[in-house]
Amino acid sequence: MRTGFFCDIMSHMLYKSTRDGNIRLKASEAILKGLSDDGGLFVPESIPELGSLSEISEMDYKETAFTVMKPFLDDFTDEELKTCIDRAYDEKFDTKEIAPMRYAGGAYYLELFHGKTIAFKDMALSILPHLMITSAKKNDLDKEIVILTATSGDTGKAALSGFADVEGTRIIVFYPKDGVSPVQKLQMVTEKGKNTHVVGVDGNFDDCQSAVKKTFTDRDLNERIHKKGYIFSSANSINIGRLVPQIVYYVYAYTRLLKDGKIKAGEKINITVPTGNFGNILAAYYAKSMGLPVNKLICASNENKVLFDFFNSGTYDRNRKFILTSSPSMDILISSNLERLIYHIGGDDPEKNSALMEALKKEGRYEITPSMREKLSCFSGYFASEEETGEKIKSLFEESGYVIDTHTAVAGAAYDKYRSESGDDTVTVIASTASPYKFAKSVVSAIDGSLAGEDDLKLIDRLFDISKVKIPAAIEEIRNADILHRTECGINGIMDEVEGFLK
Ligand SMILES: *Cc1c(COP(=O)(O)O)cnc(C)c1O
Repeated sequence: MRTGFFCDIMSHMLYKSTRDGNIRLKASEAILKGLSDDGGLFVPESIPELGSLSEISEMDYKETAFTVMKPFLDDFTDEELKTCIDRAYDEKFDTKEIAPMRYAGGAYYLELFHGKTIAFKDMALSILPHLMITSAKKNDLDKEIVILTATSGDTGKAALSGFADVEGTRIIVFYPKDGVSPVQKLQMVTEKGKNTHVVGVDGNFDDCQSAVKKTFTDRDLNERIHKKGYIFSSANSINIGRLVPQIVYYVYAYTRLLKDGKIKAGEKINITVPTGNFGNILAAYYAKSMGLPVNKLICASNENKVLFDFFNSGTYDRNRKFILTSSPSMDILISSNLERLIYHIGGDDPEKNSALMEALKKEGRYEITPSMREKLSCFSGYFASEEETGEKIKSLFEESGYVIDTHTAVAGAAYDKYRSESGDDTVTVIASTASPYKFAKSVVSAIDGSLAGEDDLKLIDRLFDISKVKIPAAIEEIRNADILHRTECGINGIMDEVEGFLK
């Protein structure tokens, strides 16, 4: 990859590895690489400031996206970035607003599931392929890009759908074969794109993610595939090209509230995010760091409450049982993106961060210092049990007629706990991360227990009767689609699968 001249570097936003201070790349280079060779994640060297929020409140989603993303991706020309944005946020979304908000049960639900695969991953994965292809051109890349993806359920289909038949790319998705919902699985195994490969793994998401990261940074394998004309990149939220587009909708949500007179200029809001890999909430943290008036970032976990324990004790400890819940996209014990936050609260110190990540790898746990903990005061960790999650779906529906999915319900229940414990009635936005149709069985049985025995696809029509929300095209598509991907492998077979597909 070409690196710029010194004067060129001086004038651009640079991305550093969280584990090696000597690595500095421009945005397009960091997007192409995905993960740093040292296993670290790329982080912006500085956080740009947001412009006038009252001006942004007059902008539509695309204009907001350009304003927020441009200073992060400043080696893209205006023209290049605008083209990427135009191609991403088009009729693939079933609403012009792209990310509409709905007030219910005392909070604003920011619906991030109006894209092609009906989960919030579409918000970033609609644009990532365009950012990547543009980055390849800018850097005179002469290799085919191979996207390696581990998924807890939603990233897989969103990435497949973004990269399907995109020239110059191939994509391989690994999902935990018994750890995703039936709809999530069907969405992936019916993918038609000619450049796609979907593999069910005998293991959980953490196993998949660790094996994919290892494959990614394996020197010998990288050498072999380079000779064949390939280069690896990532569509997981470890890629900065995923994270930056996710900042946009928090700014958008704030400025809609401002425009609609729900908040006054400068008034702070709370943001609650159902969290797994810590990508979505990290984007909210970056939005706050850019100057968005945010009071609390409420990090909501399901029963895999490793983050709840971390925020309440200062110790991150993954040594515990992995629990399969009704919010599978949050069934994660190693939240990759937390590394970026750890790096920042440690004073952007790669050595300090590396030591903690080494401890996580070796002992499965690490403890942060009191001064690092102080910098976490804007975060509050809460969690919801399976029972509380179901109860939230039911009570919100009974109170307002609004139906939310299981992940969003984890956030809703966590927020209710936060609110009653703190008495804080700051205006609150809850990230609504998936359409309830994606988890029909859990949602319908939470509302009507008598239907608990039925399967997901059978309950789609019942969910329509309950919610009166149109059945999304993504669901209609899989109802009769052919299964095209049947490959399965063990955790140790992931590297061979990758090499086999690239033969
Ligand atoms: C991925 C996902 C999450 C978790 O988001 P992170 O960025 O991994 O924290 C929550 N809900 C749904 C529906 C998801 O697909």
